[in-house]
Amino acid sequence: MIPYLDLHTINAPYEVDIKQALLDVVDSGWYLFGQQVAAFEQEWADYNGARFCVACANGLDALRLVLRAWIEMGYLKRGDGVIVPANTYIASILAVSDNGLVPIPVEPDPESYLIDPRKITQLLEDPESSPAYPVAKDVTIRAILPVHLYGQRCEMEAIDRLAAQHRLLVLQDSAQSHGIKAKGTCAWSFYPGKNLGALGDAGAVTTDDEALATVIRQLAFYGSERKYVHRFKGVNSRMDELQAAVLRIKLHDLDRANARRVAIANRFA
Ligand SMILES: *Cc1c(COP(=O)(O)O)cnc(C)c1O
Repeated sequence: MIPYLDLHTINAPYEVDIKQALLDVVDSGWYLFGQQVAAFEQEWADYNGARFCVACANGLDALRLVLRAWIEMGYLKRGDGVIVPANTYIASILAVSDNGLVPIPVEPDPESYLIDPRKITQLLEDPESSPAYPVAKDVTIRAILPVHLYGQRCEMEAIDRLAAQHRLLVLQDSAQSHGIKAKGTCAWSFYPGKNLGALGDAGAVTTDDEALATVIRQLAFYGSERKYVHRFKGVNSRMDELQAAVLRIKLHDLDRANARRVAIANRFA
């Protein structure tokens, strides 16, 4: 049998570099909020063409922190509706419900399994004809959370157009799409099995919105603006230096590794 996702084989090409980088972090005596995380944030922002990147503990937190920040910034309030794909990993939905927001499931395109912008249009413009109507009828829809699944990109042009027309926020769950370089606010997971995977948990948000990046950074550090000054009821959600060091090494090779996955997938197609 062919193992489905053999992480040892995937990480083997980087083994020497990873071990050295881990030793360097151990020797540095600096394990959180250090050079590795700062450098990874810069490199991941640059790779995606985003202005800002804030690292955090995992992909679920990345999603949760963006929605929570939008609540703190007054763009969302508890009870508002967020359009989500009916077909996704549970984290996309939990991030919404954890924040007291209401997930409104919209069906995918049967070919791609990605959320179908035509069905979002139907919900927004002719709600009573939409299968989501029973969930949506009592809430104000304020955001769309498209999920790029299996390395495929959602139809972002159509989704962004709809969002602009209906004044909705857009948060992209990009946990399965490292390499698509989508514009806008994206939540990332670096869980070991993802296309850019750490040796443990890690996550990040990329965005062009400086105010959003600032609030997320504070929320992820106990809501703290500066030492012992707590602006929000925040959480503790950090990426550690060891994971950042690993991700920096693998990021250099991400495009090649993605191309290799595509070539292998094509042999099965
Ligand atoms: C993996 C994944 C997440 C969650 O990431 P974690 O780092 O495991 O919290 C969220 N959404 C999707 C689509 C995922 O595949």
